[in-house]
Amino acid sequence: MVVDDIPISGSAHWNGSAWLIVLNRRHRAPRQRFALAHEFKHVVDHTTHSFLYTGMPGMSAAEQAERAADYFAGCLLTPRRWLKRACSNGQRTPREIGRLFTVPVPVANTRLTQCGFAPRHRRRQRVLRIVVRTRLLRRCSRRRTRGTL
Ligand SMILES: [Zn+2]
Repeated sequence: MVVDDIPISGSAHWNGSAWLIVLNRRHRAPRQRFALAHEFKHVVDHTTHSFLYTGMPGMSAAEQAERAADYFAGCLLTPRRWLKRACSNGQRTPREIGRLFTVPVPVANTRLTQCGFAPRHRRRQRVLRIVVRTRLLRRCSRRRTRGTL
């Protein structure tokens, strides 16, 4: 079902006899496709989510389920093998991949990184960002323990 006035991309509902996945009509096809795959994962996990997603340090069970649904949707819509073929044919930018697979550009970007097909400089930038962030967090926690913050 595709509707106009929902504030989210999609949602899944059990109506007593069947699952209903509602998508936002105002969103473009790539986002609708991603939302459909994401919600489908919630439907698939419906009976098992309580023991699949129990939470972990720094992440609630609900957040874990959301990340799993995002990962599932990304894998379903941009399978690694097809992504590899596209990259070897010269389509390497997130925009090109997004257009080819009809997925949002950020999803294409994530899949390129997850599959190791992101250009080296982008992977390096991401690692650098993580290192800088970790150093900042360490510095902040040291200040906090000294009582300067
Ligand atoms: Zn969700």
